[in-house]
Amino acid sequence: MADDTLSLADPYTVPTRHWHELPDGRIQCDVCPRACKLREGQRGLCFVRGRVDDQVVLASYGRSSGFCVDPVEKKPLNHFLPGSSVLSFGTAGCNLACRFCQNWDISKSREIDTLAGAASPAALAETAQRLGCRSVAFTYNDPVIFMEYGMDVADACHEKGIKAIAVSAGFMNPAPRAEFYAHMDAANIDLKAFTEEFYEKITFARLGAVLDTLRYLKHETDVWFEITTLLIPGHNDSDAEIAEEAAWLVENLGPDVPLHFSAFHPDFKMMDVPPTPPATLSRAQRIAREHGLRYVYTGNVHDEAGQSTHCPHCGARVVARDWYTINDYGLTDEGACRACGTQLPGVYDGPHGTWGMRRLPVHILEAA
Ligand code: SF4
Repeated sequence: MADDTLSLADPYTVPTRHWHELPDGRIQCDVCPRACKLREGQRGLCFVRGRVDDQVVLASYGRSSGFCVDPVEKKPLNHFLPGSSVLSFGTAGCNLACRFCQNWDISKSREIDTLAGAASPAALAETAQRLGCRSVAFTYNDPVIFMEYGMDVADACHEKGIKAIAVSAGFMNPAPRAEFYAHMDAANIDLKAFTEEFYEKITFARLGAVLDTLRYLKHETDVWFEITTLLIPGHNDSDAEIAEEAAWLVENLGPDVPLHFSAFHPDFKMMDVPPTPPATLSRAQRIAREHGLRYVYTGNVHDEAGQSTHCPHCGARVVARDWYTINDYGLTDEGACRACGTQLPGVYDGPHGTWGMRRLPVHILEAA
């Protein structure tokens, strides 16, 4: 069993900044809206932040739950350096408590020491460069809770021309959010449903706070972001809820924000719910398009028709995509339609990558 005691003598435990003292002697963590109020030695809900020596510390700086090279389409990002490879990793813990978590072995881990390998920001950046990755991605669990580590990794990567991607539920307070996203190039935000009831009962978070993050990213940053909604049969897949989500996105973020509807598979505390039928993904895609979103994709299934990108002007299929593989590419190096010259939204820099479906587990070699 791992030792749960927090200590600044631990080389992976570092001080943090976003917290304040309360009149009753507790200290409140201000990173996310959970606002954990901590007594000495206590950990927050995310488990990796806690109070020691009268301050909030991060106990997972430089430790990861695994490294893997994936296609960027798996994050999922379809309009960010298409076809390129990404060095993906996470830590342990999470600030949400989703009953359907698809990475619960990592996000609910209480045994950081047995789970995690060491990886300094410099070693991660060097590994990404050595493997030819265009980006690193903080994924598997939510980087909100290990923001200090994530920002340092992003900075080390930027020095080598490698970009940083956050995969997050967007449940973060304004001040740390601004600090964190100033270091990020792209994000995929998990919009888990479009009712407060779902957020309260199933994720123990709040929809309003996530929508604030989406508006913030759109209107106050240059971060390229896409949105994912995992459709769970009977819980968030009604026509009305999908229509409401799409209408909100168009009105608040515009028609160009890509939306991915992905398929649920029974997991964690939701083993009694069936997998998402492919027809549900197609129905959601149709509804979202009818409400004006231009780039709506299906995910976690083979569906070339549902995963390809079309030019909004001439209708040409500019990226033929099946799951994570690009089968045909009709964009210029700058991301314009080869047929009519219309610029597609996103980040494009040269020919598309050819990483495809591969998933390559990686060991990080720390310098001696
Ligand atoms: S980041 Fe962790 S400790 Fe801080 S408020 Fe959120 S759940 Fe609590």
